[in-house]
Amino acid sequence: MAIDLRIAGGEVVTPDGRRPADVLVHDGKIAGIVEHGLEISDVGGTIDAADRLVLPGMVDPHVHTREPGFTHKEDITTTGQAAAAGGVTTIFGMPNLSPPTTSAQLLDEVLELYAAKSLVDYNHNPAATVPSEISAMADRGIRAFKVFMVVDTARTYPHPAGTGMHDHGDLLRMMDTIRPTGLPFMIHPHDQALMDYIEGEIIGAGENTPQGYAKAYAAREGVIWDTACDVLLRLAEAADCHIHLMHMQTRRSIDAVRRAKARGVKVTCEVNHWALFLGQWDQIERLGPYVLSYWVPDDARAAVWEGLNDGTIDMLSSDHGPHTREEKEIGWTEMWKAHTGTPGIQYQLPLLLDAVKAGKLSLERAVELTAKAPAEVFGLAATKGSIAVGQDADLVVIDPERRWTITNDADLSRCGWTPYDGHEATTAVETTILRGSVIYAAGEVVGRPGQGQMATAAVPAVVGN
Ligand SMILES: [Zn+2]
Repeated sequence: MAIDLRIAGGEVVTPDGRRPADVLVHDGKIAGIVEHGLEISDVGGTIDAADRLVLPGMVDPHVHTREPGFTHKEDITTTGQAAAAGGVTTIFGMPNLSPPTTSAQLLDEVLELYAAKSLVDYNHNPAATVPSEISAMADRGIRAFKVFMVVDTARTYPHPAGTGMHDHGDLLRMMDTIRPTGLPFMIHPHDQALMDYIEGEIIGAGENTPQGYAKAYAAREGVIWDTACDVLLRLAEAADCHIHLMHMQTRRSIDAVRRAKARGVKVTCEVNHWALFLGQWDQIERLGPYVLSYWVPDDARAAVWEGLNDGTIDMLSSDHGPHTREEKEIGWTEMWKAHTGTPGIQYQLPLLLDAVKAGKLSLERAVELTAKAPAEVFGLAATKGSIAVGQDADLVVIDPERRWTITNDADLSRCGWTPYDGHEATTAVETTILRGSVIYAAGEVVGRPGQGQMATAAVPAVVGN
């Protein structure tokens, strides 16, 4: 068999562990994992990965591309460029768009945009707010549904009408409707009634600031998150529906998921880069609206790392959420008017790999969190998430010893800024490969819009343990 590409000389992280090996690619698939130096007669091209790590491309199931509707912030192409530079080869978009993705027809329109514009493989999570649309949307090959429990009153974005659901009866009905599809139901946990009371007190005390906002979300050790997670876990148990909780960040909610998993509730969950790398108080003071501003106090962050290591938290996702500087600047004095969300798809993998070096988790666990687990949970494991023969050749070559500085100038998101500006990283994405084609190398995105394909599979999703 002719080999199109050989990634030679590196240390490869496979599902069986890490080992020195060359990865062989044929027709977009991994055709072999062989010892260094093995003689092969017919090789189209070689990438020198000596002293490099070779990982599976990241599968990021939580990405706000902002298209259609908000392309002044970001679009599908610019998201894909930042993804390629960040070692991400598959993205799932979110439904809080204009129009919000609430029907099969609107879903079809969004999927057409991806087909024309995405540099990386993709899927899209429509909003599960219209029960009569659920089965038709599932038939399109999506891998999850999404709702926010947030019902913002002071602003229309980022939680527009059509994407929110917080009534418990509506949530249970929707879980009953989704269960027969076998797809996970992604939910942003939030207790709006508690938030209305808590933020009223804080704004009333004159703290319409990033600090006030951060205090509101983290108030009383995260009561607005914990209450929502408890309700969702109980409803998921009652409906026997697989839920996927987003934005894990409090000790009690992580404990609740741990206990729910132990008793067999179908729940998976994710953490986002900002909870690990941006949620400290001094960062909120310095960066204000640019960090989101969710505050993850030190003891809560310790619980997040514990949950990442013991398997309670299944995966890392970016929650990539670009907004313009103008949409952020207002937050210094009127935080509840600022659009919340922060970009991150370009830097989450190097930051996580730096955390590996700092002893926070193992390299193997980092690969599970960024590739294998999301592929399994969302039913893509037949083609994505692992370096194994027969898988799509979605690969990232990592330079584990390169000092570089993250800068706004090099940020590829349309918003043109990153909360990590000035941060010195010591691990770098060197090359990103999508189904055997190089899409990022030597600091340049070389992938083309339209190169991405829809990532789907006719196999049922599995629920993490
Ligand atoms: Zn999000």
